[in-house]
Amino acid sequence: MKLLVATNNAHKIHEYEEMFNPLGIEVVSPKSLGIVEDPLEDGDSYEANSLIKAKALQKYVDFPIIADDSGLNVVALNNFPGIYSSRFASENGGNTLANPKLIEMLKPYKDKSAFFTCVITLLNVKNKPIQFKGICPGKILDKPLGDGGFGYDPIFYSTEANICFGIASEEIKNKYSHRAKALEQLIAFLKEEKLI
Ligand code: IMP
Repeated sequence: MKLLVATNNAHKIHEYEEMFNPLGIEVVSPKSLGIVEDPLEDGDSYEANSLIKAKALQKYVDFPIIADDSGLNVVALNNFPGIYSSRFASENGGNTLANPKLIEMLKPYKDKSAFFTCVITLLNVKNKPIQFKGICPGKILDKPLGDGGFGYDPIFYSTEANICFGIASEEIKNKYSHRAKALEQLIAFLKEEKLI
């Protein structure tokens, strides 16, 4: 089965390949099809933005498409940056600078708890979009650790994996991450539908 994954983020594509390839699913990126789409993600939730990204590709292919929208929610900051995670990073000069800035913003608060969220939208399987949500609980560290993963991984300690994602192996991250959890549900659904 072929699956168009609505991202050109090389890290995300790699994570999806690691999880889908063993199931015989071929991951296709928009770039590999020559598709240049950068839809305005102006939704007010992960669900809305994930749907916007998936729908933007629907005119190009008739095989299944998935799009994810994800982000880091810091509880003491009212779940900021949340759906603005990508924007917060780019407006602060990338995650190398945005990560210490977030630690600084959190300094006045005792509660360091945070969670990653991922919502995946599946299109072109049923006659309506289907969504799957994964949550990865954890806390924000006092300083960045390691350079593994991407984005906010070096400041995120997973309380389920008991390790910071900045130093975790790909195997561990792909077991406990928000994306992995949303994907598990997606894979169960594809199996139920006898698509894989
Ligand atoms: P989007 O889902 O591509 O719109 O971007 C979400 C943003 O949230 C990314 O650019 C990262 O900054 C952050 N993010 C999402 N998933 C992860 C993850 O697994 N690790 C670290 N940061 C993440």
